[in-house]
Parts: sequence; C-alpha cells; structure tokens
Amino acid sequence: MKYFSLQDKSHSVSFEEAVVNGIAPNRGLYFPEQIKPLPLAFINSLHEKDNTEIALKAISQFIGDEIPVDILRTIVSETIDFDFPVEQISDDVAVLELFHGPTMAFKDVGARFMARCLGYFNREKKDQKVIVLVATSGDTGGAVAHGFLGVKGVEVVILYPSGKVSDIQEKQLTTLGQNITALEVDGTFDDCQDMVKNAFLDTDLKTLTLTSANSINVARWLPQMFYYFFAVKQIYHAGLPLVVSVPSGNFGNICAGIMAQKLGLPIAHFVASTNVNDSVPAFLNSGIFEPKPSVSTISNAMDVGNPSNFVRVQQLFDQNLEALKCQFSAYSFDDAQTREAMKKLYESYKYLADPHGAVGYLGLKKFLNVHPKYHGLFLETAHPVKFLEEVEKTLNLQIPIPPQIASVMDKPKTSIRISSYEELKGVLLGR
Ligand SMILES: *Cc1c(COP(=O)(O)O)cnc(C)c1O
Repeated sequence: MKYFSLQDKSHSVSFEEAVVNGIAPNRGLYFPEQIKPLPLAFINSLHEKDNTEIALKAISQFIGDEIPVDILRTIVSETIDFDFPVEQISDDVAVLELFHGPTMAFKDVGARFMARCLGYFNREKKDQKVIVLVATSGDTGGAVAHGFLGVKGVEVVILYPSGKVSDIQEKQLTTLGQNITALEVDGTFDDCQDMVKNAFLDTDLKTLTLTSANSINVARWLPQMFYYFFAVKQIYHAGLPLVVSVPSGNFGNICAGIMAQKLGLPIAHFVASTNVNDSVPAFLNSGIFEPKPSVSTISNAMDVGNPSNFVRVQQLFDQNLEALKCQFSAYSFDDAQTREAMKKLYESYKYLADPHGAVGYLGLKKFLNVHPKYHGLFLETAHPVKFLEEVEKTLNLQIPIPPQIASVMDKPKTSIRISSYEELKGVLLGR
C-alpha cells in the first residue's frame, strides 16, 4: 500500500517508509492512497469470528505485501491479546472499555502494533538501531515504553517533565529497564517536546536513525480501527442505527473509527466529545478551523488545542464540511460537567468512569437527546485508576489498585535527569 502526504499529494511512500519517517516532508500527514470496503458477508459474520482474524482482515490492505501474512498475524495477535468488552449501561447506552491492556490506556494497541512493525522492518539491521524518541505528558509514554519493551533493534528514549506526571505514570516509565531509557527533564511538557523537535532537526545526529511514536504515525493510528470492529461484533441493537461517541484530543482514535466505517462497519454517526479544548466543535459551528493554545483540564490526555489528526478526518469527507456534518457531530464540556457525569454514571448505573470516558458519555447523551432513535456507544479510554486522585475525590470512594499497576509501584525508579538539549544529545550519541 502506498501512502501520500496530505501536504503534497505527489509525494508517496511505502507503508515501511511511512512508519519509519513518521511524518512526511513539510510536516504532512501520511494517508493511504486507497480504502477498499470489506465484503458484506465478512461484516455480517463478525460475531462468529475471533478477534485476530477480524483485526488481520481490517489492517491487511494497508500493509499489502510489506509484511508476510503469517508474521502480520502474529503481530496482530500479540497486539490485541486482552479483552475489549462492551457493557450495557442502560437501554440505549453501552460502553466499550479500551483499558484492559498492560498500561490500562487505550494507546496500548497502537504502541504495541507500531513497535512490532518497526521490529520487523529492522530485523536485519544488526548494528543500526532505530531510536524511538518520545516526549510524554503522561499516558503515551507508558504505553510506548511497554509496547516497545524487548523489541530487538529498537531503543526507546522517553522524556517526561519532572514532578508533572502522576506517581503511577512515572513508575510505568521508569521501572522497565532493557531497551527503555527514561529521561526526567527539569522543565515542562513543552520543554520536553521542544528537545525532541530539536533532535529531529539536528544535523549532528544524522548518523542515528531517529523516529517518533506519536499518534500521527500510521502504525499507531490504523490499528485503532480494531476497536470499532470488536464493538460491532458484540452489539446487537435491534435494527436501530449505531452512534459512537469518542473522547477526543488529537483525533486519531475517532479518525480510525471513520476508517472502519469506510471499510463497511454499520456505524451511522460519530460524536467527537472534547473537553474545553474545543477547536473542532467550534469549527463545525463556524466553518473556520482555528487552533488555540491548550487549556489544562481533568481529562488531560485530551488537552490539545491543535488536533493533528483532524486533517485526516476532513480528508475522509473530501474536505467537505456539509458531508462531514451528516455523519459527525462534536460537542465540548467543561470540568464541572465532567464531574457531574462521573457522579451520574456511578450513582445511577454503578459505572465507574474516568474523566475521559465521562466526556464521551456526555457527548453521547447530548446527541441522543435530540436523536432518540439511535443505539448509543461511548468509549472508555482509560481505567479510572489512571486518574486516581480525581476519581476518588469526585466520587468519594477508594479504588482498588489493579495488579498491572500494583506490580510496578513496588519497583525502583531508574531515570536520568537532564536539564538541557545538550544533555539529551549526549545521551543519544553515547548509545
Ligand atoms: C490519548 C487519549 C485520548 C485522546 O485520543 P485521541 O486519539 O488523541 O483523540 C483520550 N483518552 C485518553 C485516556 C487518552 O490517553
């Protein structure tokens, strides 16, 4: 499969190049040249198929012959070897839980898939290692670190702002060892991100193969389609059209959902649910896309003022706003509303949601209020324990710590403290 750049349609590359480069020249995002719907008979028989076969079928055309099918099957089955349960909350509302992976964040799937693809592409380059460089404000780093742990030929260097990630998140980054190095930066998340950008532009580092593992990478974006297949497989909605609400920040997840719809999944409508970082809801109202500086909220993984993947969403609707609005709504909610939704879910339905899932629930309810003849599904993107303090304070309860998290809390933290770009360079060149 070829991918073209959304900044320059004449620039096209293979899947491997798209994965290794991450982003096209001129900062364009890669986009597949073709999207071929899957046979209707396959879509109609999802409930009889196992998850690996479904995921393999969904992703195959986007990889073509660049990874042999038996290896791709292994990659896919290792990527998704945990549950993706749908729980019915009320008559018209169900939730798809995406937090049963090793770091309890939905980013596990994208990170695991990308890591294994890179490992495959790098299998014969014995002394030229790929270095994956990521800045994290919390959840991405843990998922990437776990996803890449032990993958041959790949070194991971994670930068995080000292004192600004939660204890659980820090432990998930700093206790793994092997090919994972955690750099604790004296500064903010923006400082970490600036250091990473400098490294990509630095000609002194030309001898290294550097890549990034953020959600604009096609190998992190596309496997998120799997969630929507697994959801439809589990839902029987008595003939009502399905609406899916996705808590959105960088818009990679919802964009993968729309890709899955293009492949033939019976999803009638998407709702992008955001916190007060509302560039996309504002765009649907005004027709003008204005990126804004990001604002801190309690659903902090969605604090994105300039969502990178939204250009891909627009591409899926041929840049036509009216066409987009027929199948896509977007609503924004503040922290007070989010806390109210967490309480409502817990008190009325005994459902413990994290702040991101609660935003998804709010968006779904807002849509269903006006369009009652739909069956609703919202995505829960993180386990509530990942946002422990907020959830315990809002709901006035204590959450038991699940074993995946408890096991890292006892391990000793190992990090290298840095405060300048020169120090980062030293670490990279010393490897
Ligand atoms: C990253 C993240 C999101 C937002 O996903 P996008 O694909 O960036 O829109 C939502 N919830 C959680 C918990 C996340 O970590």
